[in-house]
Amino acid sequence: MDIVETFIRSGRLTREGYAELLAASRNREAAKSLQREAVRLQKATYGNRVYVRGLIEFTNYCKNNCYYCGIRKGNRKASRCRLDREEILACCERGYALGLRTFVLQGGEDPWYTDERMADLIQAVKERWPDCALTLSVGERSRESYRLFREAGADRYLLRQETADESHYGKLHPPEMSPERRKQCLWELKELGFQAGAGFLVGSPGQTDWELAADLLFLQELRPQMAGIGPFIPHRDTPFAGEKAGSVDMTLRLISILRILLPDVLLPATTALGTLHPQGREMGILAGANVLMPVLTPPGIREKYELYEHKSSSKDEAGRLGELAERVEKIGYRLAAGRGDHREIRGDIRKSADR
Ligand code: SAH
Repeated sequence: MDIVETFIRSGRLTREGYAELLAASRNREAAKSLQREAVRLQKATYGNRVYVRGLIEFTNYCKNNCYYCGIRKGNRKASRCRLDREEILACCERGYALGLRTFVLQGGEDPWYTDERMADLIQAVKERWPDCALTLSVGERSRESYRLFREAGADRYLLRQETADESHYGKLHPPEMSPERRKQCLWELKELGFQAGAGFLVGSPGQTDWELAADLLFLQELRPQMAGIGPFIPHRDTPFAGEKAGSVDMTLRLISILRILLPDVLLPATTALGTLHPQGREMGILAGANVLMPVLTPPGIREKYELYEHKSSSKDEAGRLGELAERVEKIGYRLAAGRGDHREIRGDIRKSADR
C-alpha cells in the first residue's frame, strides 16, 4: 500500500511518514486522491457550509521581532497605530449588522493592551453581543492572562506555532523567542477550554518537507479545533525581503492533508492564499477549507496592518459579504449564518441553531 493510501485509511503517520507523504503529494494523481478524500470529509462533517469570521486587526504595535513579519518591532518604517475600545466596539457593531457572528481580535503583541484592558474589552463585546463568538489572536501571554481572558468570556484563540521544528523556528525568530513556549501556550489554551487554533507558515525560507512533517505531527498530537496555514509572503522591510514566497499548490495540498488529519477542524482559506492567487481562497475551499475571514478593520489602520506585501487592504470585504457569498456559491458552497463552533462544543454553550 502506498503512503497516500495508508494516510487516507488511518489519518495519522509518523514524522518519517509525513515527510514521505509530502514528497509523494507532488505527484498529480496523489494530490488528487488527497483532495478527493479531504472534500469527502469536509462535506460529511460540515456539508457545503463555509463559516465567516469578521477579522478586526486592532493594533500593529508589536514587541516581537519575527524575521518574516512586516509589523515586527525592528521595522522602523511601519507606521504604528491601534484602535481603542470604542473603535473596536464600533467595528463589532458594524459586523453584527452585516450578519457576522464571530469576531476575531488580532494584533501584534502590544503591551498597551494589558490584561486588564483586554479583559475589559472582551467583557464589553460579550455583553453587547452574547450570541457571538469572540476569538483572540494576540500572541503569547502567561497562562494566568489566558485564564483571565477565558473568564472574561473569550471563546477561541488563534496562535500559530509557525513551525514545530526547533531549528527551523530559530531561523525565523530571534533568540529570545522559544518554540517550546509557543507550543506550551497552545496546550494551555486548550486546557483552559478555548477552542484553540494552531498552524504554520508554508514555504518559509529554507523550509524542508522534514520540517513541515514536524508541524503535521504536532497538530496530530495537539488536535486543535482550528488550524490556520498560509504561504509565506516576503515583506520589503524585513530581513526576508529578498526571499521567495511559499507555493500555492503546496498550501492547497497541506489543506487537504489537514482535513484528513483532523476531519472536523475549522480550517480557513486564508488571506495570504488569496493574495498569491486571485482564486486562492476558492481553491482553498475546494481543497478542504471551510472558513473565510473577511477583514472588518476600518480603513486607516487596515493598510497599516501589513504583515506581508500586497496584502489586500484596499477592499472593504466584510462590507460586501454578498460578493463573497456569490463567489462561494459559484463553487457549490454557501456562507453559513451563526457562530460556526467546532463540533465538540456545539450544543453546550449555544442555544440558537447554527444552520
Ligand atoms: N501576534 C499574533 C498575531 C500574528 S499575525 C500572534 O503572534 O499570533 C497572524 C499570522 O500572520 C502569524 O501567525 C503568521 O503566521 C502570519 N504572517 C506573519 N507574517 C507573514 C508573512 N510575511 N507571510 C505570510 N504570513 C505571515
